[in-house]
Parts: sequence; structure tokens; C-alpha cells
Amino acid sequence: MLQHTHIPLDVLEAQANQCHRCPLGDSRNHLVFGVGNPHARVMIVGEAPGKNEDLQGIPFVGAAGHTLDGLLELADLTRDEVYIANVLKCRPPGNRDPRPEEIEECTPFLREQTRTINPEFIVTLGNFATKFILKTDRGITSMHGKLFRTGRFKVFPIFHPAAAIYDRTKMSSLEEDFRNFGRILKEDTQEKQREAEKKRAEEEKRQHEAAEARANGTQNSLF
Ligand code: SF4
Repeated sequence: MLQHTHIPLDVLEAQANQCHRCPLGDSRNHLVFGVGNPHARVMIVGEAPGKNEDLQGIPFVGAAGHTLDGLLELADLTRDEVYIANVLKCRPPGNRDPRPEEIEECTPFLREQTRTINPEFIVTLGNFATKFILKTDRGITSMHGKLFRTGRFKVFPIFHPAAAIYDRTKMSSLEEDFRNFGRILKEDTQEKQREAEKKRAEEEKRQHEAAEARANGTQNSLF
């Protein structure tokens, strides 16, 4: 069977830095590849860099970044624990929506990034990330706050934090979703701990029974 070789993140980033597969490569100040824990259990996928991100080369800085930090806290997460990336690695001018051809050209980077990081959970922020990751035409309004599966990944769509900057009514929904996501993570951790505990107890029982069988065998051989 062919094994997929994971491409190291620094190699992928160097490739993306050379990329001009779509016109956004010519207008960018900085590529915004992604930041965070390369072994993260949770990967956050946004849409595309904005003005501040393009200037600094870091995803989610400025107002949207500040909002995201606060929301992560509600899920009991920090930036250092998660990995944050976008569907597009370069800024669309004037923060317009990503175009289908740009998404097609750019998403091989996100696909490889996801394979390399191999998170357990992917939080998709907004329509573009949700539609790409879950291969769906359904909008974020009907999908946010629910857990989906694609391949080995568990996917939890949430509104994009920038939506709350322009529409404050979205903030309570964002907060609720991040809190619920935190609960899902906690329950998942507890479930794993219970399973590990059960396996440990079963292994101890097996070893105990094997030792008893050996002892009985020794005794039998004495008479
Ligand atoms: S947006 Fe993606 S495909 Fe387009 S130039 Fe940037 S890295 Fe390349």
C-alpha cells in the first residue's frame, strides 16, 4: 500500500512563499501561511488574510484576532494550543470574498497543512472554510454549532469572528458555539480517559490471570 508522506510545514510554507498560482500572489505584502502548535489537537480554519494579516504575515491579528482570542478562552483554549490557518494564503484586495479559482489554486496548501498537522478537530470559521472542508453547499447559518465528520476529522463550523464586528447580534451565537465546542472537547477527553482506564484494568486482569495460571501450573507439577 502506498504511504502518504507528510510534507513538513516549513517546506510547505517555503513553497507557498514562491507561489503565484493566482493573481493574489502579485498583490500580497506577506504570505499568511498559518501559526500555532504543529501537533495541535484543534485546527482553526478561517477565510483569507485581511489588511493587518497581510501587513504582518500572521493570521487573525487586529480586531478579528482580538475577538478570536476571547472566543478561544471560552472554549478553554489558547492560541499556543491550536493551529490557525486560512483557506487562502494571500489577501484578496479590499477584503472581497475569495473567488472559486483562487480557492482551487490555493487549497492544496491547506490540504497538505491539515495532513501534516493531523488534528482531531477542525473548527471552520465562516462559509468558505466550512464549504471547502465539508464539501457542502450548505451555508454557515444552518451548520454552525453542530459536529460533523469528514474522513478522520471531526468538524465544528462556527461563524467567522469578523461577522460579529459588523453585526453584533452574531456575537452571542459565536460565544455559545465556542463554549459548546469547549464542552465537546472536554467530554471527548474524558471519554478517552475512561477508555484508557478500562484498557489498563483489562490488561491488569489479564496479567493477574496469567500469573495465577502459571502458579497453578507450578503447583500441579509438584504432585
Ligand atoms: S492565494 Fe494561494 S494560490 Fe494564490 S498566490 Fe497566494 S499562495 Fe498562491
